[in-house]
Formats: sequence, C-alpha cells, structure tokens
Amino acid sequence: MIKTGLVWFNNDCRVHDNPVLLEASLNCERLICLFCIDAQWDRPTGLNAKPIGEIRRQFMNQTLLDLSAQLSKRGQSLIILSGDPVEIISRLISRFDIGAVYRSQHVGVFENRQWQHLKADFPRLRFESIASHTLFRPEQLPFSLENLPATFSQFRRQVEAIDIDPPLVMPKTLPAAVGSLNDESEAVLVKPKTTAAFEGGESAALAHLEDYFSGTDPAHYKAWRNELDGWHHSTKFSAWLANGSLSVRRLMQRLKRYEKQQTANESTYWIYFELLWREYFQWVALKLRHKLFSAGGVSNKKIQCCFYPERYQKWCHGNTPYPLVNALMKQLNETGYMSNRGRQIVASCFVNELQLDWRFGAAYFEQQLIDYDVASNWGNWQYIAGVGMDPRGGRHFNIDKQTRQYDPDGQFIRKWQGEVTSPQLDSLDAADWPIVPPKNH
Ligand code: FAD
Repeated sequence: MIKTGLVWFNNDCRVHDNPVLLEASLNCERLICLFCIDAQWDRPTGLNAKPIGEIRRQFMNQTLLDLSAQLSKRGQSLIILSGDPVEIISRLISRFDIGAVYRSQHVGVFENRQWQHLKADFPRLRFESIASHTLFRPEQLPFSLENLPATFSQFRRQVEAIDIDPPLVMPKTLPAAVGSLNDESEAVLVKPKTTAAFEGGESAALAHLEDYFSGTDPAHYKAWRNELDGWHHSTKFSAWLANGSLSVRRLMQRLKRYEKQQTANESTYWIYFELLWREYFQWVALKLRHKLFSAGGVSNKKIQCCFYPERYQKWCHGNTPYPLVNALMKQLNETGYMSNRGRQIVASCFVNELQLDWRFGAAYFEQQLIDYDVASNWGNWQYIAGVGMDPRGGRHFNIDKQTRQYDPDGQFIRKWQGEVTSPQLDSLDAADWPIVPPKNH
C-alpha cells in the first residue's frame, strides 16, 4: 500500500466511472486530489489565440466547483493551484513524500511533455497514466496504434462490435486527504453568474444525460443533427465529454438502455456512430502526436496558403462577404458553441475561400469553443484541410448551396446578424495598394 498518492485531474473531472481515481483509491492510504490552472492558459500561443477563452474558463470554474463538492461528499477535497503544473507537482511530491502520481491518459503533446518531465525528474516514483477518455481500453483495440486504420470507415468496421466496458462502480468513501496545504495559495473560484446554455460539472452533465434520454429526441437524432441551431437538434454532450465531467461509457450505457426500453432505430445507432468519430480522433491524435499540429499534417504535405491578417480578423469577427459564415462565427463568439455542420462550413471557408493556414483557424476554435477537445478539434481541422489520416483530399463546402439547404429563409442569418457589412475580402491588393470598390451605376 502506498502511503500518499497524488491524483492529477485533467480531462477526467468527475467522480463517476473514473478509473484513475479508483486505481489511486485502491492503492493509497491518503490522497491529494489536484487540479492545476496552468499559467500558460493566459498567454497567446504562436498561432495568435489563447489556449482557453472566457466562455470555457467559466465552464471550467463551474466544473471544478462541482468536482470539489462531489469529492467532499466522499471525504476528499480538491486542491486547485495556479502556475506551472510541473513545478507545482514537483513541490508537492517533495513536501508530502508522494509515492505515486496518477492521471488520465491525454493525447495532447504539451500535456505529455509535462508528464515526461515529471517522470524524468522523479525516476523512482510510480507514475500511472490510465485511459479514461475513450470508449475502449487500448488492449481492446484489434490493431496496434502503429496500424491504426487510415480511414474512419475502416476503423469503425473493426471496432463497432467490441463490447464496451460498463461504467465502474466507485467507492462511497475515498482515502483521506492529507492535512492542510496552508502555505500553498489555492485559487479561489467564484461560481460565475452565467446565462450560457451549458452549465459545467458532472451534476449538470448527468442531469442533461437523463433529460436527453427521457424524451423522444434520440429517436430523431439523424434527421435533425445537421440543423444549424436548436438545443434539441443534437445531443449537446460535447462540452461535458471534453473535460471529462461526463464519462463516454456512462453515455453509451444510457444510450443502450434507451434502445432497450424506448426505441432502437437508425437515429439511436447514429449517436453511437458519431461517438465512434470522437473515438477515432482520440486514437489518431495519440498516434500522430506533434504531427496533429503541423501544417502539412500526417504526410508533411505542402500546403498553399499565406497569412492575410485582414481576412483572418474578418473571419474571427464574422465580417466576411459570406452571411452564413458571419452568422456562424457570431454564434460561436457569443455562445462558445456551433453545430457540426456550421463548424464544417466555416472551416472550409477559412481554408478554401480565404486561403488561410488551417492551424490559425484551429487555434481560434481552441480559444472559443466551450467543448474544445484537442483530438476532435485538430483532427477535424486536418480532415477539412486535407492533411489528415484520410488519403482523399480536403473538404470544400459550397457556401451558397449550404445556405440554401440549411437556412433557406435566412432565419439563422438574421438571428445572428450575419448580413454582410463589408463585401470585400481585402482592402489592399497584393502590392499593398488600396482596393477601391467599384461604384454602382
Ligand atoms: P452530436 O451531433 O450530438 O454528437 C454526439 C457526440 O459525438 C458529440 O458530443 C461528440 O462527442 C461526438 N462527435 C460528433 N461529431 C463529431 C466529429 N465530427 N468529430 C468528433 N466527435 C464528434 N468536437 C468536440 O467535442 N470538440 C472540438 O473541439 C471539436 N472541434 C471541431 C472542429 C471542427 C472544424 C469540426 C468540423 C468539428 C469539431 N468537433 C469538435 C466535432 C463536432 O462538431 C462536435 O462534437 C459537435 O458539434 C458537438 O455537438 P453535440 O454534442 O450536440 O454533437
């Protein structure tokens, strides 16, 4: 038995079905439950955006307050410290004579660099990284990561029939917390007053899970999922799945129960189908590591693009010559959410019409999305830019056609004020001369 263990919460902000917390509880007499607010989150990356914007920050605060409450109910407490996670954890290891550090497996390069750093600094300590973010455990996959199928369809065919583990039964009481950490200055979180549709935390996630499956929406999912707006038109589980306040296995268990007790049809299958897309991107990210973020992607493809600051700004603020793109970007900026169809349209516009480097679009999404998930975001952007696993080229959506199909009477564009105010894409030409718009005769 290890005397003191440290659980480093990250993308597993929950107490239900949490294999990391369970493993630590079974092996340690005392636990420190830690979340680090990384100092890097406040600094813009080289791609012009911050790793986390205001809307997700608030969602995260709500999530941590709820996690703290759930841990308290089981005799534990959540310590939230701000700074460099490697420095924070190194300090705690030395101060409390920690015997083992536990965390959820993460696909982010940055997060893994921190983990490797700690392992190198404390070579004799036990470090355990446990899969908690995916439907399948790595041992369940019928192929090695190296031989991960190159397309989603091949992946789906090989994994679809695998039995998904039921959610874990968690202990009612957890090992005791260590005494006080009084000379560590803990971050004070204030529950934000927000009117956002999404409320952070596992309590809200589990309430939404019951709410969604208590009605008939799941039986219509496939027909509605491409709508641009409307709470009921898709499941809206993404934000809770992203920070792990909802376990994807718990979601699957609830879906199966719905199919058994209510309806099983093409729509309910399609929810699983979409969760398999999420799953695929998780394993892709784990395989690609830093290539997930490189301009040429999987095969170092040469991409033709330039950086046009004005086009980039216009896209971010919803001020392009394309009303639908403007409306979608304004929806994103105001709510932190955009439908899957909307994300495909604005990403395609960024790459094809605006001819910008896709990584700047992905980084802007990273900042703005309430449901940002490193694998799903960068994987989908790569897919649209044509530099991902799929050997076919990228995806180019015809904006006029999409507008006619998904906003035929202009309601969405009016709601989000997407009307064009500046019909030109550029105000300077290639030689930096002002472009004078033609006069109307
Ligand atoms: P639903 O349609 O109800 O789908 C159910 C679940 O399946 C989702 O919650 C999600 O977990 C998963 N899912 C659905 N579609 C996809 C997909 N294409 N890729 C991966 N998983 C999917 N999703 C994120 O969770 N985080 C991101 O950062 C993210 N960035 C994206 C960027 C781009 C450019 C694109 C095109 C898609 C992105 N997606 C991302 C995927 C998808 O748009 C969202 O998961 C979905 O819109 C969330 O709404 P929902 O929960 O109602 O989805």
